[in-house]
Amino acid sequence: MNTIYNFSAGPAVLPKVVLEQAREEMLDWSGSGMSVMEMSHRSKEFLSIAEDAEQNLRSLIGLGDEYQVLFLQGGASTQFSMIPMNLLHGAKVADYVCTGQWSKKAIKEGKKIGTVNIAASSEEGNFSEIPSVDSWNLSADASYVHITSNETIGGVEFHDYPSDLPSPLVADMSSHILSRPLDMSQFGLIYAGAQKNIGPAGLTIVVVRKDLLARVSPEVPSMFSYAVQSDNESMFNTPPTYAIYVSGLVFKWLDQMGGLSVIEQMNIKKSTMIYDQIDRTGFYRSPIDKQYRSRMNVPFRIHDESLEDLFLKDAKDSGLLQLKGHRSVGGIRASIYNAMPLEGVEALLEFMQHFEKKHG
Ligand code: PMP
Repeated sequence: MNTIYNFSAGPAVLPKVVLEQAREEMLDWSGSGMSVMEMSHRSKEFLSIAEDAEQNLRSLIGLGDEYQVLFLQGGASTQFSMIPMNLLHGAKVADYVCTGQWSKKAIKEGKKIGTVNIAASSEEGNFSEIPSVDSWNLSADASYVHITSNETIGGVEFHDYPSDLPSPLVADMSSHILSRPLDMSQFGLIYAGAQKNIGPAGLTIVVVRKDLLARVSPEVPSMFSYAVQSDNESMFNTPPTYAIYVSGLVFKWLDQMGGLSVIEQMNIKKSTMIYDQIDRTGFYRSPIDKQYRSRMNVPFRIHDESLEDLFLKDAKDSGLLQLKGHRSVGGIRASIYNAMPLEGVEALLEFMQHFEKKHG
């Protein structure tokens, strides 16, 4: 097989060594005689897999006991509803910062449950930046402040988080969780679908400060209640066992790579290489203000947009897959999550230079 590199926004590339280990253990996990897929979620084997995964995630982030880790299902999209169902009560309001398509979806679902205040929005500027915190019009007593800390489609990323907010900060980290160190003390809750920067689709990770669980009404349906999920250690029903297992292997891999500070340096390097190439001559262009460019999802255009289809076709022929921009915005997008090797970025650069030479 020729080397291919997968730039999909998600489900996305996984570390090759993780896939190899999963293959190795596919039919017989650790002498159990069973595949992980075949194990009862209440068996001691699977409980040890889930426990290890949680502990490894906790040590990667450096999570204290005041935070609960939940392994849920339903994708990040279900969190758009669960967050207000659990945390937004009565006459209270929730503040949302709108920075792109995913914030808009979170806001739309939030409004179905309670009162939403759009504290800031960059929509007028076509989501090319993140509104500065000084401009946020925060409510005095909001249940929480919601941000989308990396916009997968638009390609803007929060590189710093606001501190001293009057209400707990809640972040959709789906497309950049574990791409850099995380100081959880800045957040009340974070969430992420696993299928971008962690593991297979099917697992959704929520980390929530335990004191917020006390806010959850017993009226919230059990499957949607953080309190019920927490009391049952994410085993209220059958969890996505295989996705938890593979995610656990990814957490171990991240640790072996040196942890999140080392991963961050690699992500800075990989993303800088691509942005430098985009900015070099004007043949390519980035729609995003330099200060807010995502290290994970790099959307870009060719100045002559009529060349984009050819770019995608030739890239595919060269083994560079899934570079098409999201269907809502078009163009080109390279998603370069943790598991994208440096060689993949180098291959993309070489291709971009070659394409520019030919058509520029
Ligand atoms: N939030 C962000 C930032 C995303 O990128 C995505 C998926 N692309 C979602 C939410 C929705 O995730 P899911 O498909 O897991 O519901």
